[in-house]
Formats: sequence, structure tokens, C-alpha cells
Amino acid sequence: MIPFAYVRGRSASDAQRALADAGAAPAQFLAGGTNVIDLLKIGVVTPELLVDIGDLQEPLGIADAPDALRLGAGVRMAEAADHPAIRRDWAVLHESLSQAASQQIRQMASLGGNVLQRTRCNYFRDVSWACNKRTPGAGCSAFDGVNRRLAVLGVSEHCIANYPGDFAIALVALEAEVDTRLPDGSTRSFPFEQLHRSPGDTPHLETTLAPAELIVAFRVPRGPWLQRSLYLKVRDRESYDFALASAAVAIELQDGIVASARIGLGGLVARPWRSREAEAALVGQRLDEASARAAAEAAFAAAVVREGTAFKPELGRRTLVRAVLEAARKDPIAQGTTP
Ligand code: FAD
Ligand code: SF4
Repeated sequence: MIPFAYVRGRSASDAQRALADAGAAPAQFLAGGTNVIDLLKIGVVTPELLVDIGDLQEPLGIADAPDALRLGAGVRMAEAADHPAIRRDWAVLHESLSQAASQQIRQMASLGGNVLQRTRCNYFRDVSWACNKRTPGAGCSAFDGVNRRLAVLGVSEHCIANYPGDFAIALVALEAEVDTRLPDGSTRSFPFEQLHRSPGDTPHLETTLAPAELIVAFRVPRGPWLQRSLYLKVRDRESYDFALASAAVAIELQDGIVASARIGLGGLVARPWRSREAEAALVGQRLDEASARAAAEAAFAAAVVREGTAFKPELGRRTLVRAVLEAARKDPIAQGTTP
């Protein structure tokens, strides 16, 4: 057992001060704890201090305004998945949340913690193996190991770990913004797409957050592409499993022609991945199997595979084709056509 201190933050400033005061000592926020405690138990993280933000007093709920949906970072996944407005108008968000983990985990886990969950790479999670993400410069055991669950887009020669979450794939597709609070009380907002870093030669640096910076909320703008949206998740088991490949698709059709499209890819990506290549290939085209396939080819043109991941680009392409065609068959949501 490795001892650590536990502090409960009553307010954001309280919690951030506690974390900032820890200085260089390893310390982190604890929201639902479903990822932090898991990693702590297997020795992958060894914090000296955990600051519980699961009970902050600031109102951090769900607000469905005419221009955007605002989701507090502390909202539990289950609450967001079951919210009537999200079920009605934001299908891709609802589906990404309701297909993640299990009902029990979704009751505990927060949206903020969900987007910041760590990779499920076996070698990252087993401290007896070399891993550049855990120990910079140590090497990567996954390159020639069991790597079929890992990434083919956005990887580097230092790390091929996959980003495992679902909700973040929908957020990146829908051009969400992140609102944060810094320890000095100032705030900033930036595109969700900039929250996660590519591994490059520093795979241990996973986000662009400053020390003790707190995610407060996500804002998802309303756009005409919400007319038809969908999250398709392909996995080994039909429930309680991470994606092998996934696609978050939002498209606007006018007389069968794609007027606008937003596409995110998951399961085989190093960070939440928006495919502008697939979007550009679709817009202006009549939506059919051929145009969907052309978009999928564009999406995976830059894929980099290892022996164990060689099947993934084709799995990703088929997932995207199916997602786009299924989205097109959905009844349009009139509300989503008003930006
Ligand atoms: P925590 O564990 O409390 O925190 C996670 C990280 O986020 C920590 O680094 C913490 O410091 C940081 N953090 C939390 N909130 C903030 C904030 N507001 N600001 C700054 N930093 C913050 N997820 C999926 O998406 N899809 C799946 O299919 C899936 N399957 C799973 C299956 C199992 C068996 C398990 C155990 C987990 C699964 N998960 C899946 C992951 C699960 O959804 C995450 O563990 C959970 O969402 C994390 O949320 P949390 O609130 O518990 O985060
Ligand atoms: Fe570590 Fe990344 Fe290699 Fe996995 S793929 S062992 S996380 S360096």
C-alpha cells in the first residue's frame, strides 16, 4: 500500500489551491474516480495527494440553450446520457455516452473525467513492461507486442496507444469548446480538438491543460449538421467494452446531397480525431455507398499500421461507411436545422 493524502474540495478555488500547493509532488483531481483509482491500484499512478472534486458547490449542470448545449464537467455520464434534450436533439452525444462502460460506471463517472481517461494499452497498465508514456525514453513494448486494440491514426514512432473514450469522439466532431478555470481564478475557452496532444516524441504529455487547471464545462454549438447524427461503436463484445473502431457522424442533407458534415473517429486513434478529409469528401456529393466509401478512404489515407493493427484501417473504413449510411436513413431533426 502506498500512502497518499485525500482532500475534499468544496469549491473550484478550494480544490485548485490544494492541488497548486502540492507543487512538484504528484497530485491530481479525483472526480468519479473510476479511472484514477483503477490506475492507482495497479501502480500506474502514484499520487501523493488526491483532491476530490466530485462534490463542488458551483452549479455545473446541463443547459440546452438555442445556440449551444452546455455540459458541466462534473455532470455524471448517466445523467447526460438520459437527459431528455440530449436524447431528443443530440443523438450522437446520447449514443456515445450510453454505449460507454456500464450503467454502474456511468452513474459514478463524470464527463470531465471521461474525456481525460488514460489509454487502455496493456503495457501502459502493467508496470513490469517498458512504456514511453509511463517512463519517457524507456521504449515501447507494444510495437512488437499485443497491439490489436491500439491506434493507426495520429501515432508516432514513440507510442501507438489508443485514446479509449467514446464521448470525446462526438465532442470533437461537433466542434465543442472547453471552458476551464486556472488556479489564479482566470478562465479560458478553447476548441475541444486542442485539449489532447498527439504523442509525438513526448507521449507522456497527454493534454494541453496547465497544472491544476480545472475543466469546468463543455459547450457544443448547434449546427445544421445535427439534422441527422449518430455514434457507431464496433467492439469485440456488444456491451461493456471499449471500441475497436467508432464513428461520430452528423450530416445535413438537402435533396440527397450532403450540405454539411461533421465526422469524428475513435477506437483506433491516438487522440479524439476529427476527420476533415472525410467531411470534405462528402460535402456536395449525393450520399450513397460510393461517396461514403470515398470519404472513408480519405479518412484513413494517413493510417500507419503494425502487424497487429493491419486490419484496423479497413475496419475503420467500414465503420465509417455504415455510420454515414445509417445516419442518412434517420428521420431529420427539424430543430437541428436552425444554427
Ligand atoms: P476520474 O477517474 O475521477 O478522473 C480521470 C482523470 O480526469 C484524472 O486524471 C482526473 O484528475 C482528471 N479529471 C477529472 N475531472 C477533471 C476536471 N473537471 N478537470 C481536470 N481534470 C479532471 N469509457 C468510455 O468512454 N467507453 C467505454 O466503453 C468504457 N468502458 C469502461 C469499462 C471499464 C471496465 C472501466 C473501468 C471503465 C470504462 N470506461 C469507458 C472509462 C470510464 O468511462 C472512465 O473511467 C470514466 O469516465 C472516468 O470518469 P471519472 O469521473 O471517474 O474520472
Ligand atoms: Fe506505452 Fe504507448 Fe507503447 Fe503503449 S503504445 S507501451 S502506452 S509507449
